[in-house]
Parts: sequence; C-alpha cells; structure tokens
Amino acid sequence: MSTLLLLPGDGIGPEVCAQVRRVAAALTPDLTIEEAPYGGSSYDAHGTPLLDEVRDQAIASDAVLMGAVGGPQWANAPRHLRPEAGLLNLRKAMNVYANLRPAYCFEALAGASSLKPELVSGLDIMFVRELVGGVYFGQPRGIEDLADGQKRGFDTQTYTTSEIERAGRVAFELARGRKNKVHSAEKSNVMESGLLWKQVITDLHAREYPDVELEHILADNCAMQLVRAPKQFDVIVTDNLFGDILSDAAAMLTGSLGMLPSAAIGDPEKPGLYEPIHGSAPDIAGKGLANPLAAILSFEMALRWSLKQPEAADALLAAVKKALDDGARTRDLGGNLGTAEMGDAVISNL
Ligand code: NAD
Repeated sequence: MSTLLLLPGDGIGPEVCAQVRRVAAALTPDLTIEEAPYGGSSYDAHGTPLLDEVRDQAIASDAVLMGAVGGPQWANAPRHLRPEAGLLNLRKAMNVYANLRPAYCFEALAGASSLKPELVSGLDIMFVRELVGGVYFGQPRGIEDLADGQKRGFDTQTYTTSEIERAGRVAFELARGRKNKVHSAEKSNVMESGLLWKQVITDLHAREYPDVELEHILADNCAMQLVRAPKQFDVIVTDNLFGDILSDAAAMLTGSLGMLPSAAIGDPEKPGLYEPIHGSAPDIAGKGLANPLAAILSFEMALRWSLKQPEAADALLAAVKKALDDGARTRDLGGNLGTAEMGDAVISNL
C-alpha cells in the first residue's frame, strides 16, 4: 500500500489540498494519506518551516504533495527560516533533480490562451528542467566591493557530465512514452557549459536512445518558437536557469495559474515532490475561491510518476477534461464556482 504525504502549507494551500484528499478518497481509497505541518504555518507553530521529522517522513513516503508556502506575514522572518527556505531544503533532501512541467492545453480552455486558439489547441509539451544544479547553486557567487568604489555581483554556471546525463535520461525516457521527440535547449554558441551540455546530450542519445528523435535548439530561439509555433515541441530538456524561464512562458500559453501542476523527481525508486506552480495567493486565501485543479493535476502526476497507478491518473485526467468540457469554471477561468464546487465537478466525473 502506498503513502502520500500532504504538506498543505499556507494561504490557499490547505484549501486546494482538501480537494486532493476528496479526489483521492473517491479514486484511490487504498492510498494512505498522511499530513504534516510545513511552511509559514510550521514556522509559527514550531519555529521552522520544515521540521527534521517532516523531512524524514517525506523521504520515507512514496510521494509528497505540497499546497503552497509563503505570505506577507513571514516577509521579515530570518532568511534561513523563511517558508521558501523549507522548500529548497526539502528538494535538496529528497534529491529531486528533474523538474517536470507540462504545458498542456485543455480543449475547453483554448480560447483563454494569449495566443490564437489554433496555435494552442492540442498543445502538449513536457519540460524537463534540471533542478538542483547550474547557476542557482554554482560557487563562487557573491557581491564584492571593488577598489574603484563599485560593487561586482557574480554567479557561476556549472554542470558536470553526470548532472546533464541524468536530466537527459529523464527527458528521453519520457519522450518514448509520448511523441518520441526531444529538443535540448542551451546556449552552446556563447557558453562553455552550454557546449558541454550539447556534447553530453548528443553522446547520451547516440549511446542509449538512438530511437528517439533529438534536436538541439538555442535557448533564445526556443523562446521564440514557443510563442510562434508551440505545437512543434514534445519534450524539452534544459538547464535550471533557462528551464525556469522557458517553462513559465510555455505554461502561460495554456491559461490560468490555477491550472498548472508540476513534479520534481529523481531516482525512480525514491519519492517525487509534486506541487501546483501557483503560490499561496494571500488575496483570495480563506475565501473558498481558489481553483483546485493545479493541485488535483499535481496529484494526477504523482499517481503517474511515483505511485505507479497510471490507470487512476488517466481516469483523473479524463474527469478534469469532462468537468471543463461541461463548463465548470472557477473565477480565475471566468466562472463562478468555488473551490469545493470545482472539486465536486471533478469527483462527479470519476
Ligand atoms: P500567487 O501564485 O500566490 O498569486 C498570483 C495571483 O494568481 C493572485 O492574484 C492569486 O489570487 C492568483 N492565483 C494563484 N493561484 C490561484 C488559484 N489556484 N486559483 C485562483 N487564483 C489563483 O503568487 P504571489 O501573489 O506572487 O505570491 C504569494 C505568496 O506565495 C508569496 O509569499 C510567494 O513567495 C509565495 N509563492 C509560493 C510558491 C510555492 O509555494 N511554490 C510559488 C510562488 C509564490
């Protein structure tokens, strides 16, 4: 029997996670669901956003699903005890090095995109963003004083062969279950780390994945192609920095922030970390207005990638599609359903 650890967190986190609980009760009654404090609410109760025992509980579970963390009330907490610090520590402790970010257009929402419906209708891209390396973690980094009175800020972009290979492997494996095509995005024209990225992906492809179609693309061209003709893409693998930016841009092609799930995975035998990409939305927290679909679709990803229940994941995706086809809309999608009513709409289609 599998265990899902829910970390509802702050703001709308508990509201959307409550709907995940209801969906799970209807869809996967055998799944054991545990819940633990996390984020700002954990800081208030226990003086830290992530207790050691919660970290250990996460590592011992089969999957972890987070709601959201943060809010203005914790803006002045010490940096290492801020809610966001708990998130980075958890990612590191779980060694989840590949961030999967789907940009998937539900047919019923094609009109809500900033692009013409014909450009996004049928869109289904999966980003694989390297998550624990690159310029966000590279050393040295800092801000130093120069002799002439100026300051100098610097970061280090760095990747090793194995860091690139493991992200690439996730992308090629995913592509095999999809349209069998990988674009690898870097800046090999101007960056040494980009050149290594391209070489390593080329070698990995020739050695282990010759059956998958591979195209190299410069990250800036990738940005242009995403808004020009996004349906040419299937899986895009890229580093931490470019992945951060490109996956955000691609995700917004498909509509509201309230619709977007994500997964962070590492070793296939270890638990993955699943979360909606939205934040704690303090402006609507506690009002029952939040769209729970990003959290529910994060659960769909957990079923597929960590809990090894692809049929249940398919059924959940179909139920969300049907609810949207039938016109179910929360306020962010231009409708007037509340959080629990959107949960009802999904559950009634399971
Ligand atoms: P946000 O995502 O919380 O909200 C941005 C806007 O989108 C708001 O108007 C909000 O009402 C709306 N929105 C977000 N999710 C929605 C949903 N499910 N349904 C309907 N509307 C939704 O971003 P923000 O306001 O910049 O940040 C608020 C707090 O969340 C900050 O403390 C920030 O640090 C934190 N944050 C946390 C995460 C995370 O937990 N991974 C991610 C982003 C921001």
